[in-house]
Amino acid sequence: AMYRVKKEGKNGFKFYDEGMTLEAIASITMENEIRKAIEDESFEVYFQPQVDAREDKPTGMEVLVRWKHDELGYIPPLDFIPLAQSAGLMVDIDKIVMKKALKAFKRWVDDGLNPGKLSMNLTIEQLQWGGFVSFVKELIANFNTFNNYLEFEITEDHLMKDPKEASKVLEELHKLGVSVAIDDFGTGYSSLAYLKRLPIDRLKIDKSFVDDLPDDSEDAAIITAVISLAKALELDIIAEGVETQEQKAFLMEAGCSDIQGYFYSKPLCADDMRAYLQK
Ligand code: C2E
Ligand code: CA
Ligand code: CA
Repeated sequence: AMYRVKKEGKNGFKFYDEGMTLEAIASITMENEIRKAIEDESFEVYFQPQVDAREDKPTGMEVLVRWKHDELGYIPPLDFIPLAQSAGLMVDIDKIVMKKALKAFKRWVDDGLNPGKLSMNLTIEQLQWGGFVSFVKELIANFNTFNNYLEFEITEDHLMKDPKEASKVLEELHKLGVSVAIDDFGTGYSSLAYLKRLPIDRLKIDKSFVDDLPDDSEDAAIITAVISLAKALELDIIAEGVETQEQKAFLMEAGCSDIQGYFYSKPLCADDMRAYLQK
């Protein structure tokens, strides 16, 4: 009951009820299941194409984790990432994701498939961990993959939790030739001063602004402004969650031709991604 009060913003009270025990058991069980999945490395990686809409040509892909549970089947990331994060397990999960993604990616590069850039999600904990830069160096060395194939995405929210530390680590990644994107841009509160100073290469316009295009004039205005901001700061720009021809057309007209979303493709397993690249 105490923890429930804390979770709901402190300064209140709650009576214990049975449901709380059940919930606590469920969350401990789930946490143990995540630990087991980390041990067994039973997380899978999917890849969603990013496309230059001017020529309908893929420029890269985003790596998205999938948890295939023995009994429950596929568990979507948003159903386990918050718990994994509060249990301090996301760093370990992302290490598995990164290793697996690079393994598949290297095969495509070796087979001459021209997969473009591999974009991987980061949390702030990864940047605070202290061993991340060495981990990335090792990844690059082990897979013998050119570093300029790699990009990391970090959400604006996470970045602004600890911009000082983040900026230090991102700078080091930059020196390795790895690029950096701000994910879910526009949903958090990043200071423009930081934006100028941080070693950032690209902004990713959040899906929530794309959803109601082209009819919602506020979203349209925000997107137009974000694109100008990116241009002024000499940053690349990509829009995610693009599902329709109308959304794509609006974005292109506004100056953003890098597109990710169901309009082009859902996230694909490694085999399907290979077929996609071949096609
Ligand atoms: P995100 O980084 O913003 O990833 C984009 C999410 O939008 C993905 O959901 C993707 O499947 C979905 N999506 C892409 N295009 C469309 C579209 O056109 N329409 C709709 N309705 N959805 C689209 P997913 O895979 O469920 O991932 C959810 C979130 O979980 C991600 O949001 C990211 O924050 C996190 N996540 C996923 N994989 C990883 C990972 O490997 N590591 C970390 N740290 N976070 C991850
Ligand atoms: Ca992302
Ligand atoms: Ca995003």
